[in-house]
Amino acid sequence: MGELIKDGLRIDGRKPDELRPIKIEAGVLYRADGSAYVEWGGNKVLAAVYGPRELLPKHMQDPTKAVVNARYNMASFSVEDRKRPGPDRRSIEISKVTSEALESVIFTELFPRAVIDINIEILDAEAGTRCAGITAAAVALADAGIPMRDIPAACAAGKVDGQVVLDLRKEEDQEGEADLPIAIAPRTEEILLLQMDGHLTYKEFEEALELAIKGSKYVSKLQKEALRRKYKKVEEE
Ligand code: UDP
Repeated sequence: MGELIKDGLRIDGRKPDELRPIKIEAGVLYRADGSAYVEWGGNKVLAAVYGPRELLPKHMQDPTKAVVNARYNMASFSVEDRKRPGPDRRSIEISKVTSEALESVIFTELFPRAVIDINIEILDAEAGTRCAGITAAAVALADAGIPMRDIPAACAAGKVDGQVVLDLRKEEDQEGEADLPIAIAPRTEEILLLQMDGHLTYKEFEEALELAIKGSKYVSKLQKEALRRKYKKVEEE
């Protein structure tokens, strides 16, 4: 304790309620129906959406709605110690919660028997990759023209050195007391994903949740700007 916050500032000079720098670009892949690239602090994330298209094999189909299939994958070179390629417990868990968060805003009933595939590739990882991944995937879904109630946005808050802070970087995630990643539908502030690692008192939890919602709303602004930029460019061409 006492190493991560000095004179009210964090190790990278951020205030407790400040995000890392975030850049979002929509429509970066030619082959995908929709795509997005996100840089968020030291994270670099690519998302590609394919579909809606017929789900095969047929016995996997749902006659009432589309299946939303998000796959979170960490490149073996994305972390300090080379990550063994392929799915592990952690990436299966993140894929599941990401699929559920995104499915809850998509009008899946419009596409019976279909699948919407969402590939999230973590090229560089520096904590907060699930939030960066959901943020990229949401922009890619909008870029693909998938009908949604809202464009989900994600952000984490947490606790380091006894203080509630926004958007943990690697050292804060590793040495801090808690991490609370969330995803929201920004228009209604409906919570689409909420996970927690570590310990918070109820009061701290409320404070962290409020901060993470504020962060997500700022991320939402950046997502919309990225989509507007993309469509402005298409219009000009
Ligand atoms: N990490 C790693 N190797 C792994 C998994 C994670 O080095 O196999 C690092 C990576 O920087 C990641 C961070 O640990 O961003 C935090 O991981 P966590 O499971 O909390 O998910 P995240 O915060 O990325 O959503």
